[in-house]
Amino acid sequence: MKKIREYLQNKVFLKYLLYSIFIVITTGVLFILLSNPSIKGFFSSIENKTFDARQSILAPYKKVSKDIVILSVDDESYEYFLEKYGEWPISRNIYADMITYLENQKIGAVAFDLMFVKSLKSSSNDDEKLAKTIAKYDNVFTAINFDNQSFDLRKPATLPDYLKVRINNNSKINLKNDYTNYVNCRTIISQIINSTPNIGHINLVRDEDGIARDLHPFVVYKNDYYPHLALKVVLKYLENKENLKSTDFNIDKNGNLILGKRKIPLNEKASVILNWYGSSGISNPNSFEYMPMWKVEKAMYEGAKVIPDNYFKNKIVYIGTSATSLFDLKNVPTDKIFPGVEIHTTFINNVIDNNFIKRVSPATDIIISILLSLFVGLIVVRSESTVLSSLVAILTIIIYVLFATAVMKYCNIWTGIILQTASVILVFIACYLAKYIMKSRDLEYTYALATTDGLTELYNHRYFQEQMIQNIETAKRYEKPFSLIMIDIDFFKKFNDTYGHQSGDAVLRQVAQILKKNVRSSDIVCRYGGEEMSVILTNTNNADAMTTAEKICKAVSEKPLKLVNGNDVNVTISLGVSTYPENGQTPQDIIKYADECLYIAKENGRNQVGKKG
Ligand code: GH3
Ligand code: MG
Ligand code: MG
Repeated sequence: MKKIREYLQNKVFLKYLLYSIFIVITTGVLFILLSNPSIKGFFSSIENKTFDARQSILAPYKKVSKDIVILSVDDESYEYFLEKYGEWPISRNIYADMITYLENQKIGAVAFDLMFVKSLKSSSNDDEKLAKTIAKYDNVFTAINFDNQSFDLRKPATLPDYLKVRINNNSKINLKNDYTNYVNCRTIISQIINSTPNIGHINLVRDEDGIARDLHPFVVYKNDYYPHLALKVVLKYLENKENLKSTDFNIDKNGNLILGKRKIPLNEKASVILNWYGSSGISNPNSFEYMPMWKVEKAMYEGAKVIPDNYFKNKIVYIGTSATSLFDLKNVPTDKIFPGVEIHTTFINNVIDNNFIKRVSPATDIIISILLSLFVGLIVVRSESTVLSSLVAILTIIIYVLFATAVMKYCNIWTGIILQTASVILVFIACYLAKYIMKSRDLEYTYALATTDGLTELYNHRYFQEQMIQNIETAKRYEKPFSLIMIDIDFFKKFNDTYGHQSGDAVLRQVAQILKKNVRSSDIVCRYGGEEMSVILTNTNNADAMTTAEKICKAVSEKPLKLVNGNDVNVTISLGVSTYPENGQTPQDIIKYADECLYIAKENGRNQVGKKG
């Protein structure tokens, strides 16, 4: 118990206790705020922006695979086809010929990020030819798209079993969630569906801010899993290189999709966060190679020498649109007009490079936040300089941001920045608040120390003198009197000699308490010196002061006081009263007059209030 009390009286302990309370309160408030979904959403949307910024900064350090080429209906090709064939989309006969042309070039795989849906324009002959051509090769892939259209509009199609995949999920991730589940399907022509298993979904989910950051390797339709087109394509590519097969998938207990020796981290939405290669390859020479489709058409039908020899050999040829008028442009972390097809190639390249981004768990983010805030808090507590501690706080955030960027670069790990920054700032403010409170408390303490007498806890002599001057000024200004009572304990030297100094001190303290009890709270009770005490009675005339003095005299004489040995004893006091303005104009004169009255009381036998004349 005594230890605890000692501890509580220890200033350093109190200081750290106060800081800790402030830190706990502010971080507590932060986490309570974060439990609100809209505030959490706000935080994570800014966090997403920091991801985008980091991705843009790091993009120049990444290299895309030269094995991937985007065969694109760009603005030129779109114009060329419209001019030559007078229509868009072009006949499926051309796509069939294009597959044959590419296969002759010994491509690795070809994928259509185009939907061969039922069309008024296409003839069934062309559809037939395209389906046959697709089925002829095992490295040609086409797309299907799931959606949530109402059943009234369209009956959900039944898809062949060979399009489904099995997933053995050992993780806590829910693969059938709001983001992956679809109730309907925009299917493609039956000739293709019924002739090839090389069909994958091309569904894309954007974040709340409209930016596509991740991709779902699998979606769920009628309770079955369907893989993404790009996943199928890259597996085909790796099948040749790394002997991978792709009908059953495993997800380990940590939420990684296992593809051979690769571990692809899934997040809680069951999607993968893509590692972006900068702005679109249309404008960025460091990103994916684009080949305008018109060149292939010209080379194929006119034998034009517009494509280098062996250009397509062993490559993944991804066919899609990038023409602005065809509206397949997305907002991604590193570009605002990014062709959808390039999101697919980004996924493929991420699989090849094995560099998907892994978002750390909320617990990791919280631990980092706490460590950083504690560090900054400690600096604020320990440093006397505001400049230094502010600088340390800012530097801590800057260094952490650099660290988080480096971690993303070298480890492909996304550690939060916003929660960390917010908690560092909050704790910084909290510690300063605590520091301010400590300072003002210190000031109060110092002031009390300077004006109080240690033994009796009455005001000291210096404060008494100040108050005398103060009271004369106030009395003068308001033309009101004030009085002073001087008090001296009778035969105190003898008392000390009889009972000892310690009992003398105890009696001094008790007399001081009696004085305090018998005057108004606005009156100022001081220890004048030794065993002499004084009371300044503000706003009090002589008659009232005399009454108070008599009352005090009686109270002291009647009250049994405790000696250190526990015995009771009685003491008496002698008093002298003087009043401003009638008994003096200066502190010295007023004190002198009261002293003279006190002397008269002693002369007349003590235990009384002395009076002149
Ligand atoms: P008188 O009735 O004439 O006032 O007799 P007295 O013995 O009280 O005489 P005086 O006022 O001159 O003596 C003051 C004594 O008070 C001297 C000292 O022993 C005692 N004294 C002064 N300050 C303290 C103190 O802080 N503690 C204790 N125990 N005694 C003190
Ligand atoms: Mg004395
Ligand atoms: Mg005395």
